Amino acid sequence: MITRPRIGVLALQGDFAKHAEALAAAGASVNEVRVPSQLEALDGLIIPGGESTTLLKLMEGTTFIDDIRRFHGRGGAIYGTCAGLILLAKQVRNPMQRSLELLDAEVLRNGYGRQIESFEKQAPIKCLGNPPFRMIFIRAPTIETLGRGVEILATCNNRPVMVRSGRLLATTFHPELTPDIRIHKFFAVMCMECAAVDTGEVCGVR
Ligand code: GLN
Repeated sequence: MITRPRIGVLALQGDFAKHAEALAAAGASVNEVRVPSQLEALDGLIIPGGESTTLLKLMEGTTFIDDIRRFHGRGGAIYGTCAGLILLAKQVRNPMQRSLELLDAEVLRNGYGRQIESFEKQAPIKCLGNPPFRMIFIRAPTIETLGRGVEILATCNNRPVMVRSGRLLATTFHPELTPDIRIHKFFAVMCMECAAVDTGEVCGVR
């Protein structure tokens, strides 16, 4: 298995610099991705939080949508936070908008309300052990429905807030805004597992 995954952070808009810092601290080799061709040399990609409509606008006229789908199809792992999750979801409401349609989920933009309804809360993430994670929600989406193959890794206030489906990871909150790098480490391991499957090194990893 590779020991240092190459992970890109989509650097069009939003909170990409903090993700890059957390990934570097988690031991990954980090690249900011500004043009689609930069996806080629990567094992994983983070789509950061920000504003999904702005991200979509900046992708217009580029091949990003198709190339990110292709990147996933050829074995790349993707982690979407907040607006990044909105871009990954198969269906988006409030209002309906275009997306990558990779994650079998329906999300509601600004599902908790407006900026004033942003909040933070500590909640456990079973696969990361103790202590609980400080989850920061900023105009966060809510996950309304999930497909059968999607695993819920954490809930907060009885709602799914961290999910995984094969090579896709998504959180409705912003781990990069805390010094806790456990989720970035978890994603780095996912990327290494996916890269190993890709090279035929291990079998049976989702
Ligand atoms: N509300 C934003 C959107 O709909 C997401 C907010 C965030 O990424 N923190 O795109």
